[in-house]
Parts: sequence; structure tokens; C-alpha cells
Amino acid sequence: MTPTPEYFRKIEPKICTDCGNTIEEMHESYLNQCEKCLRHVEHS
Ligand SMILES: [Zn+2]
Repeated sequence: MTPTPEYFRKIEPKICTDCGNTIEEMHESYLNQCEKCLRHVEHS
């Protein structure tokens, strides 16, 4: 058997649908907006 290392998988970075910035995978990885835009939306 050939074990597949975790780093072998292609990790596609999420891109904010609002500003186009790359979203750093954090606890809110299911969102399509970066923290900046999320806070902005939350603010308004
Ligand atoms: Zn954004």
C-alpha cells in the first residue's frame, strides 16, 4: 500500500467573493468572504 501524505493533496485557497482576496482557512472556512468583508457586512 502507498500512503498518501496530507501535503500531497492540492489545497485550493478560497477567494473572497467580495474583494477577491485569498481567504485564510480558519474556523470559518465554510464562508466565501474574508474576515474583512464579513466584518464589513456585519457592521452594516
Ligand atoms: Zn473580502
